[in-house]
Amino acid sequence: MPKWDVIVVGGGIWGLSCAYACAKRGQSVAIFEAGKIGQGASGGVVGAMAPNVPESWNAMKLFQFKALDSAAVFWAEIDAKSGLSSGYGRIGRLVPIVNKRDRILSQERSQNAKDLWQGLYKWDTLENHPMLPEKTTPFGVSYDTLSARLLPANAVASLARACALIGVEIFENHLVDRVDTDLVTGAWGQEQSSAIIVASGAHGFGLLDEHLGCVTGSGIKGQAALLECDLGAAPQIFANGVYVIPQLGGVTSVGATSETEWDNPYAVDEKLDAVIEAARVLLPDLRDAPVLKRWAGLRPKARRRYPMLGPVPGLKGVFSAMGAYTIGFGVAHSVGEVLADFAGGGSFALPKNFTVEWHMA
Ligand SMILES: Cc1cc2nc3c(=O)[nH]c(=O)nc-3n(C[C@H](O)[C@H](O)[C@H](O)COP(=O)(O)OP(=O)(O)OC[C@H]3O[C@@H](n4cnc5c(N)ncnc54)[C@H](O)[C@@H]3O)c2cc1C
Repeated sequence: MPKWDVIVVGGGIWGLSCAYACAKRGQSVAIFEAGKIGQGASGGVVGAMAPNVPESWNAMKLFQFKALDSAAVFWAEIDAKSGLSSGYGRIGRLVPIVNKRDRILSQERSQNAKDLWQGLYKWDTLENHPMLPEKTTPFGVSYDTLSARLLPANAVASLARACALIGVEIFENHLVDRVDTDLVTGAWGQEQSSAIIVASGAHGFGLLDEHLGCVTGSGIKGQAALLECDLGAAPQIFANGVYVIPQLGGVTSVGATSETEWDNPYAVDEKLDAVIEAARVLLPDLRDAPVLKRWAGLRPKARRRYPMLGPVPGLKGVFSAMGAYTIGFGVAHSVGEVLADFAGGGSFALPKNFTVEWHMA
């Protein structure tokens, strides 16, 4: 007799979100985490929740838009329940415009956003912004009011506490070696459940690989830092691949590198120094800000880049919540709802590119 209606493998932001959504629907849930909750990519320091550009609209962009729109309510609920702070805030985003073509594109997006973002948020094309030196914005600056942020490790702590408070049982140091229909197995023994959600991040693709006969995903290394600098609730900035994100508590996130080759996925090195220096050039407020923390981790990238969600072909009752890659935090709670639908025996009309079948094709 299974002890739980749902077993979730992996206690990162996606596993926790799935567990929370299932438990809220009245299902009994256990999370089996290989080490400590939040020890993977979700324990990091960046936490941008940024939209797709409002153009060439499709089901994936709509999914992400709805998630970003509903994130404020979700994180308010979680923080109220847990009594902790995720650091969530809808602070908007500035992107310097560096050539004429991008200015025209930004102006088109300003128009598109009125319709595609349903009149709820704006994408403005400004001449400049007081945060940014004019030399960095030769053709102006795009400003959207949809982007938000949270502080990853804090969000994980808040969601883990909320999960526990609604009855989710969390088992740390429970590495799952194998997932089969109705069964998860590890050195600790085995447990049965008719619904198993695999949310095991960059190190966990192997659990699916052996069944699907291919490499279903891999890790992309990223390095980031937390600086001591109080920017209040100023907008986050994204320029030349570098994010600067004002956080609660007088700190600012700076990131990130994107690396496909490395010796040690958790080592920080001179590539992070370059990112920090680029941020200091971009934003003079950061010039002398002390670095409080340097951090590196692996983003879980599914084989075809997009989230890989839902039923795993050939494994009845096993569902994938893999491939969070660069958008994990912005869509986590919506992924949780989707997986709770599947785990509860229902279905969800996923964007085609988010299905496991599409990734296998
Ligand atoms: C430097 C950097 C910056 C980033 N910036 C952003 C950003 O600004 N915005 C954003 O949205 N995303 C960002 N990301 C990506 C984000 O961190 C990920 O999308 C997200 O955290 C992935 O969550 P996850 O739950 O899928 O995976 P993880 O957080 O990695 O969780 C997976 C968990 O599963 C566990 N596990 C693995 N194998 C097993 C097993 N066999 N049995 C049991 N447990 C197992 C792991 O220990 C881990 O705790 C960034 C990532 C990095 C590295």
